[in-house]
Formats: sequence, structure tokens, C-alpha cells
Amino acid sequence: MEKDITIKYSNDDVTVVWKPKMCIHSCVCWKELGEVFKPQEKPWVKMDGATSERIMEQVDRCPSGALSYIKKVKG
Ligand code: SF4
Repeated sequence: MEKDITIKYSNDDVTVVWKPKMCIHSCVCWKELGEVFKPQEKPWVKMDGATSERIMEQVDRCPSGALSYIKKVKG
């Protein structure tokens, strides 16, 4: 069985978690927020391309669950 790979991309207050095996290539992320999600580049998630709020909003629209995020708790 293939190993589940998880890749994380972070800025100061949010970490985007990507599970490539779950991605169904629906293209929702890069069609709607191309400043952040750039499948032709490596790394393909540019955390400085939009505000954290906008990135989280887009991650919530990923239909496969391949994208998720962890919001950092500020103390
Ligand atoms: S929106 Fe989700 S399923 Fe669609 S390409 Fe992006 S990561 Fe993959």
C-alpha cells in the first residue's frame, strides 16, 4: 500500500495541509484562487498570495478534503 503523504505550507497564522492522494484534481482551488494555488510551480501553494482568511475560505471549498488547514492559536 502506498504511503499517505501529507505536505504542509505555513504562514504566520495558518498551516495548509495537503494530501495529494485525496486530490481529485477538480481545479477549484487554482481556478478560484490562482494567486495562492499554482499547480505548475514548486512549492505549489504560495502562502503569501492572499490573506489567511481568504486562503482558509478557499481551502473550505476543496471538494475532496485533500486540502485542510490548522489555524494557529495566538496566545
Ligand atoms: S480543490 Fe482540492 S481536489 Fe481540487 S485540485 Fe485543489 S486540492 Fe485538488
